[in-house]
Amino acid sequence: MTAEPLALYVHWPFCVSKCPYCDFNSHVRSGVDQNEWREALLADLAHEARLLPGRTLTSIFFGGGTPSLMEPKTVGDIIRSARQNWDASDDIEITLEANPNSVEADRFADLASAGVNRLSLGLQSFEDEKLAFLGRAHSAAEGQRALDLAQEHFERVSFDLIYALPGETQADWSATLDRALSRARRICRSIS
Ligand code: SF4
Repeated sequence: MTAEPLALYVHWPFCVSKCPYCDFNSHVRSGVDQNEWREALLADLAHEARLLPGRTLTSIFFGGGTPSLMEPKTVGDIIRSARQNWDASDDIEITLEANPNSVEADRFADLASAGVNRLSLGLQSFEDEKLAFLGRAHSAAEGQRALDLAQEHFERVSFDLIYALPGETQADWSATLDRALSRARRICRSIS
């Protein structure tokens, strides 16, 4: 009999700032004890593994908050522990949500080495004015750089965009989608 599939979700509840529209479980803290959080997450994972033996792990998703603020070592230790506690499917997808701030983008190579194979990037807009309206902590240029780095380091990359902002027309949104699709086509061309 095939083992029942299991998807693991890991929540990192911290952000560099609080976006005004956000109702996620996310908090701004000046300092986070990464070691304490790593130990707590690993202890929780071990507890869940005792409750759910014999399952096949098909995905791990690091969400938040902003899990790209996690130290890559913490991410790597959690992935390693998950793989030790459960058999993993050959095509396991390991996703991490990231924001495009420069300091976070600089961690992409280490996060990929830690075992992440899909990055979900909180781009939200290609325009500085809209990013400012949304209270985002990154600029359009940082978003582009982060997307370049993400596409360089991860097998799979997705990015979020927010639509229907005040004053946004259908033509504005079409232009945004054209720009987004050009990034997707660039990836397809480099793979083919
Ligand atoms: S970065 Fe994401 S999780 Fe953090 S405050 Fe903004 S919308 Fe919320």
